[in-house]
Amino acid sequence: MKALVKESPVTKTNGDNGLLERLEAGAVICAEGYLFELERRGYLQAGAFVPEAVLDHPEIVSQMHREFLRAGSDVVEAFTYYGHREKLRLIGKEDKLEPLQKNALALARAAADEFPDAAPLVAGNICNTNIYDPADADTEREVREMFDEQVAWAAEAGVDYVIAETIEFHREAEIALEAIRATGLPAVVTLAVHKPGVLRDDVAPAESCRRLEQAGAAVVGLNCARGPATMTGLLAEIRKAVACPVAALPVPYRTTEDTPTFQSLEDPGCAHLPSEGAFPTALDPFVCNRYEMAAFAREAFDAGVRYLGVCCGGAPHHVRAMAEALGRRVPASRYSPDISKHYALGSDASLKQVNRDYVDEL
Ligand SMILES: [Zn+2]
Repeated sequence: MKALVKESPVTKTNGDNGLLERLEAGAVICAEGYLFELERRGYLQAGAFVPEAVLDHPEIVSQMHREFLRAGSDVVEAFTYYGHREKLRLIGKEDKLEPLQKNALALARAAADEFPDAAPLVAGNICNTNIYDPADADTEREVREMFDEQVAWAAEAGVDYVIAETIEFHREAEIALEAIRATGLPAVVTLAVHKPGVLRDDVAPAESCRRLEQAGAAVVGLNCARGPATMTGLLAEIRKAVACPVAALPVPYRTTEDTPTFQSLEDPGCAHLPSEGAFPTALDPFVCNRYEMAAFAREAFDAGVRYLGVCCGGAPHHVRAMAEALGRRVPASRYSPDISKHYALGSDASLKQVNRDYVDEL
């Protein structure tokens, strides 16, 4: 792994320029989407979607943290997403649980320490366990145990707060929140809302967020599943239902009223798909461009959303465009587009006219 920078890392105590203070001052950007990006790069397997790269290719995870920070993320989210007991059981590697979790937390901290001026926040992460079953009361205890062990490692690693994300059941979100609250750390709880528009235990997203706020969540909102076009309406309802900061981290895909989630997107024009839908490995034609994500960030901010980011499918260029849409200049802004220098599309006076005259033929 790359040696850390020499400067002494910025140390923060919780509550000192922490999450809540930053949200009061403006927007907080949190880049997510590690799972999909590392799958595309060849460092983890689609299907099981276990973040094995944390142990097998830690330098790649560190580089992704770095890229997201350069692009303007205010937060390094430890890549423990789907690195939980149930997922590791599925691939026969439950013994890797603790090293994976602890290494992910260490990588996140090391990446944050590389940016002492920005002093990014470090977030722990828990997510849908895939074992919760509303019809089986025993699963409540099992879910709580899974969350407890993960948030304990996150707290031990000194994270600034813990994210519970892509939670599909209101009750599972409550259990996650209780586990985080037990550590005393702030909790950001984001729900994944599928086609029916309600959580899987039939609670409306706004009502779920209202109850989660009452139960002590610092930030509530939505992540994953929906693209900007089909998340915005739900966000407006949530904004009205709560007083606390609202989070929005859509997937950067062009979801529609008929196909409101990225899982439901179909690509009938493509004859080469291995399955009926485009999810999860053939979503390329649906990716939102950076300008669409910038517009989403601006509109969501204007609608009162303060915690913004991207989820599965997101990449640094999306994050940079969102940060710039919020008026920021970030390290990667040094390389933001300047088409005036393009050999044919450009307007720079030194460019050859013969190429500029050819522009319509490109
Ligand atoms: Zn996602």
